[in-house]
Amino acid sequence: MINELIKSLSMNLECIDCKSKENQYVFTVASIEKDVVCPYCNNPSSKVHSLYQREIQDLPIQDRQVILLINTRKMFCTNTECSHKTFAEKFDFVDSHGKKTKRLVSKILTAASPAKITFPPPLLKASSLSTVDDRSVSHAGTSMVERNGRISWHHQVPLSEKKELVLPSYVL
Ligand SMILES: [Zn+2]
Repeated sequence: MINELIKSLSMNLECIDCKSKENQYVFTVASIEKDVVCPYCNNPSSKVHSLYQREIQDLPIQDRQVILLINTRKMFCTNTECSHKTFAEKFDFVDSHGKKTKRLVSKILTAASPAKITFPPPLLKASSLSTVDDRSVSHAGTSMVERNGRISWHHQVPLSEKKELVLPSYVL
């Protein structure tokens, strides 16, 4: 199951160690690829300069925070024509200096979007509402107002506070 989760980030990753803390799962992972392609000249290199570990947060599992400790290589570029002598190994699922996986970032943005808040179905039926009066419904600090058949959104709290209301604690 753990390998499945790691492989869903990248087929080139393997899990080296797995620890379970109070509210966290901590997975140590590394690439299984021998060569790393230099981002400056596209030449593959297998000459390791040094190793370091990146700490990246991933999607939670059963409300527990998931931390990936990624063993990352700093490589020598062996191409003498290249403008760089060394380069760091990059992973597609996280930005170069990111602290969260791209899929976690996208989940947070989706959760914070007011358009994703769902209302009980009867309130969405505009035909059942009078067309002259203003109608509004509220949910989690956001109101939906219908006026003459047009729907608009009103935030009753600043967006920064609303995020706290909408997001589960484990993603903060
Ligand atoms: Zn290079």
